Amino acid sequence: MTDMTATVLVVGGGPAGMAVAISLRQRGVSVLVLDRRPSRDTSTSRALMIHARTLEVLEELNVTEALLASGRRASSFAFRDASKVLLRLPFNNLPTAYPFMLIVPQWRTEQVLEERLHAVGGEVRYGWTFTGLRQAPGHVDIDVLDPDGGPHVIRAQLVVGADGGKSAVRTAAGIAFVRSDYVGEFLLADVDMISDLDGGEIHNFLSPEGMMVIETLPDGKKRIITTDSPTAAAPPTRDELEHLVHMRATTSARIDAVAWVSRYQVGHGLAASYRRGRVLLAGDAAHVHSPAGGQGMNTGIQDAVMLAALASSALEGSLTALDEYERHRRPVAAAVIRFSDLFTRLVTVRTGAGRHLRNFGLAVIGRVPMLQREIALRMSELVVPPGRS
Ligand SMILES: Cc1cc2nc3c(=O)[nH]c(=O)nc-3n(C[C@H](O)[C@H](O)[C@H](O)COP(=O)(O)OP(=O)(O)OC[C@H]3O[C@@H](n4cnc5c(N)ncnc54)[C@H](O)[C@@H]3O)c2cc1C
Repeated sequence: MTDMTATVLVVGGGPAGMAVAISLRQRGVSVLVLDRRPSRDTSTSRALMIHARTLEVLEELNVTEALLASGRRASSFAFRDASKVLLRLPFNNLPTAYPFMLIVPQWRTEQVLEERLHAVGGEVRYGWTFTGLRQAPGHVDIDVLDPDGGPHVIRAQLVVGADGGKSAVRTAAGIAFVRSDYVGEFLLADVDMISDLDGGEIHNFLSPEGMMVIETLPDGKKRIITTDSPTAAAPPTRDELEHLVHMRATTSARIDAVAWVSRYQVGHGLAASYRRGRVLLAGDAAHVHSPAGGQGMNTGIQDAVMLAALASSALEGSLTALDEYERHRRPVAAAVIRFSDLFTRLVTVRTGAGRHLRNFGLAVIGRVPMLQREIALRMSELVVPPGRS
């Protein structure tokens, strides 16, 4: 028995799901967004960087101004060997209205998107869990559990799986996804730290003990991302973190407090297809990759905005309008995966010879402005190389 209907059902109220929903609402399409979380989480920050291309795309959703007001602008990205800069990538000369990387914690980006979703008459329904689906000619029946665990069936014309890297929608639609993980975990911490590091630059220290990225959050805290010891068990203490910063980055730093620590496994994977019948994938459900270069959320938001435009045409005409989505966005994800994979392997090289070769290569690029610009254009997603999927 069907007890609810929606023109489009979006599973997942993360950045990708909300961006699809806002764009659909702006086009007058009725959309229901479900998320199994009991409420939005504002205690963790995850993705930090919003790139120029995403800010351009988000203009269409009327959220760019609010994000700019919430963020801190970083105008360069530097690779360092201790205090020596091997390569500095400038972002302040990119051909865009947003020549910088905008640093905004993901919870704040989600808050801005959710406020906009409300403004266009939509909402995320929390505590609702997708469990399965059945496709039929003209519609999809979707099984969900409400916040009390009660089963319901929702009938929709299209379903968007924006339910993250372990997407249940992807599995239910029978879309293959092969993931491979890098060895070891990454450690991520937001801390109150006093140091002489420039807050307008993102610092990537390539130490023999492991790489460490340090960037400055809008509230002045520092985000530390570093390779973790495979044997580490408990979250590191303030003293242990400070020791890691001294060993891998800068001895001038003093950590006063640790606001948040998390460990995560990094890997990459790409869905074999972005659509099966009336079911589509967006964001991490379609592609996951290393956060090196900060591109996961950015790519997902850009997927979402294109998907919404095509879905709205398909609802008025034929589903074939949706073919353009995979044709255009899957090669983009494949290119992002290749780029972030190369980036991850380079910054995590540990052998003496490998490090020497890498540092030499970075120093050479440091003398060729054209190459620096090419890398900055790719990171900002203003240019995506022609993809092989
Ligand atoms: C620790 C960490 C650090 C990261 N750092 C960066 C970074 O620096 N830069 C970067 O670009 N990316 C980073 N990422 C990745 C980034 O967070 C993701 O790319 C981004 O969140 C993807 O957005 P999304 O909307 O596709 O999926 P998600 O944000 O994962 O949202 C999916 C939503 O679906 C919901 N959901 C899942 N299953 C169901 C179900 N069965 N029913 C209903 N709802 C469901 C979940 O509750 C969730 O809210 C990081 C990720 C982690 C974990």
